[in-house]
Amino acid sequence: MKTIDQFNFANHKALVRVDFNVPLDKSFNITDDKRMRAALPTIQKILNDGGSVILMSHLGRPKNGPTGEFSLKHILGDLSRMLDLEVKFAHDCIGEDAVKQASNLFPGEVLLLENLRFYKEEEKGDVAFAEKLSRLGDVYVNDAFGTAHRAHVSTAVIAQFFPKAKYFGYLMASEVENADKVLNHPERPFTAIMGGAKVSDKILLIEKLLDKVDNIIIGGGMAYTFARAQGGEIGTSLLEADKQDLALELIQKAKDKGVQLLLPVDTVIADKFDNNADKKEVASGKIPADWMGLDIGSKTIKLFADVIKNSKTVLWNGPMGVFEMESFEIGTKAVAEAVVAATKDNGAFSLIGGGDSAAAIAKFGMENDVSYVSTGGGALLEYMEGKELPGVKAIND
Ligand code: AMP
Repeated sequence: MKTIDQFNFANHKALVRVDFNVPLDKSFNITDDKRMRAALPTIQKILNDGGSVILMSHLGRPKNGPTGEFSLKHILGDLSRMLDLEVKFAHDCIGEDAVKQASNLFPGEVLLLENLRFYKEEEKGDVAFAEKLSRLGDVYVNDAFGTAHRAHVSTAVIAQFFPKAKYFGYLMASEVENADKVLNHPERPFTAIMGGAKVSDKILLIEKLLDKVDNIIIGGGMAYTFARAQGGEIGTSLLEADKQDLALELIQKAKDKGVQLLLPVDTVIADKFDNNADKKEVASGKIPADWMGLDIGSKTIKLFADVIKNSKTVLWNGPMGVFEMESFEIGTKAVAEAVVAATKDNGAFSLIGGGDSAAAIAKFGMENDVSYVSTGGGALLEYMEGKELPGVKAIND
């Protein structure tokens, strides 16, 4: 991999794409700064070499040009504190101010550009916009794994203007290495845990994993489509009616390939989608009308945990229930505990997919007890499905 370790940044201006798309509360305080912290080693390496850093990122999904709500200015103070220096800010990512501030940047200094998505050209992959951005620096570094599946200007198109000076940052490199390790060199048994709301989001990944894993565990909202497809009653639980045939096909494919596919045997049901709902446990496929399944049941927890704890490689993507509500977090927490046990007691390598699984593991305070928590949700899914990510390809080309 072409990483920043292969370049000495002394007296160079590095244009670094980071993913600072962090969640903010109503007062614009950062509620989870993991993605920012994850990019610090790359920034530090460039500064330590004697280079300067021009950071570019998006924040949220602004639709019609600049708005205060989506300004990266909100994160400037935190970034300065994290780096222990005063980060400069350009109120526009291209244009006179950006050009002037970039050219006046001294070694050891950091400049943050305003939200790239204030220009619709960014998401459109506009080459002229890419050329303008590229003028700000003389080396291009991509450290934004969370957006590596997008063929946007800052994540891919811009790389063509740095044919001999483009590198992966440390975060990108470790994300790709960890995903490759799981996909290509898993120690066995290899168990994939799939959860979350929809089967349709994860079909491609499940199909791909059937060629790789020894066990596949399916929980969360998507499990009810499987239960219904097998003739069970699921009340008002989540259902993707048009995916039932596919669910049966996946079960058959797992059988054909000798993969153990585990589905919940019992489930926690509620009379409404509410933390204070009445709840009880029933067998899978035996949910009364007007009740909905919001978590896996206690027999299922034991079944899943036993398989997970005996694994040497674990990939987890998607919660087992509505873990955001305390009443329905038990299954997800128990699975997280089993992943931690596999890692600590069985020496397993555990990779936690980004998005909601990362949010769950953070909620339970177990981030440091697993092998790796990815910062990419969609990007990791697509990489693992076998797609070439535009952000990775642009550096490799
Ligand atoms: P995903 O983004 O597909 O990984 O889905 C994550 C979301 O699925 C989380 O917000 C969970 O609350 C939700 N979820 C998990 N299990 C269920 C369930 N049984 N019913 C409804 N939503 C669920």
